[in-house]
Amino acid sequence: MRHVIGIDLGGTKTAGGIVDAEGNVVFSFSVATPSQSGAEEVVETAARLVRSLQDEAARRGLAVDALGIGSAGVIDSGQGTVVSATDAILGWTGTPLTAELTARTGLPSTALNDVHAHALGESWLGAGAGVDSVLFIGLGTGVGGSYVLNGEPVEGATFTAGHVGHFASPFAYEAGVPLACSCGGAGHVEAIASGPGIFALYARLGGSAAGDTREVYRLAAAGDPVAAEAMHRGASAAGSAIGGLANILDPAVVVVGGGLAFAGPLWWETMERTARRELLRPLTELPIVPAQLGETAAIRGAARRALSLTTVPEGSHV
Ligand SMILES: [Zn+2]
Repeated sequence: MRHVIGIDLGGTKTAGGIVDAEGNVVFSFSVATPSQSGAEEVVETAARLVRSLQDEAARRGLAVDALGIGSAGVIDSGQGTVVSATDAILGWTGTPLTAELTARTGLPSTALNDVHAHALGESWLGAGAGVDSVLFIGLGTGVGGSYVLNGEPVEGATFTAGHVGHFASPFAYEAGVPLACSCGGAGHVEAIASGPGIFALYARLGGSAAGDTREVYRLAAAGDPVAAEAMHRGASAAGSAIGGLANILDPAVVVVGGGLAFAGPLWWETMERTARRELLRPLTELPIVPAQLGETAAIRGAARRALSLTTVPEGSHV
């Protein structure tokens, strides 16, 4: 059976695994991403990770013939370059990702955005397996998504599709003033539905507990009214966005991932109830389900792209 390498390159961690043609992760390694040391160091760290995976694969007698990279940032998957990125990885914009990694590892390579990779993994082998249209939404530190149609994420004309955190939310206003968003805009879904958005709301409402969104969830579940209000608004914003997007795209299934999806029933039930209130009648039976593959989703999705590389004549993507 063929084996390829899938890489999930994020702002805090770079993880990679040897993946077989059926999507099983044979083994995986991860390292911290030196995200504030510049693109050159980030690429070299990823290349070292790939070489260590190649070495271990060789020790086990496995032949690895391609590399797929799911990376933070807007990724031109045709050129294998970083179109744009936030400061989560310093200097990432403009990096010729696949050219650099192929030069350093000898493997033909392909790249796509990490959220698209995550969604592709879930659509291939996880909660979206077996249907031809999957809407994936990830809610955690940020809010992102991907619509996977016939096994391929819809990446858009400029590879920017899937930014589901950045459209207007009726929940992202206070006294008529839109909340500032991480993208530079205001009044967007991410400003209220993300973990930091919920924590910021909790603080604005007068909540005094230290910690993070997990602590807000714990307090809400224990009956703290301020924490409950913040969690309720964040979950409602998520549900409202999910319901509206489902009406636009009419997917066979909605897969919800990210840390908030696994916070607990208080978040999930509010999110799902709000989403279902938005749905048009033909979508009444739409399944809204949690992601299944955890941290291996993006590795497997990136590997899926790499497996498609191996079917074309050697050298045409190098
Ligand atoms: Zn925004």
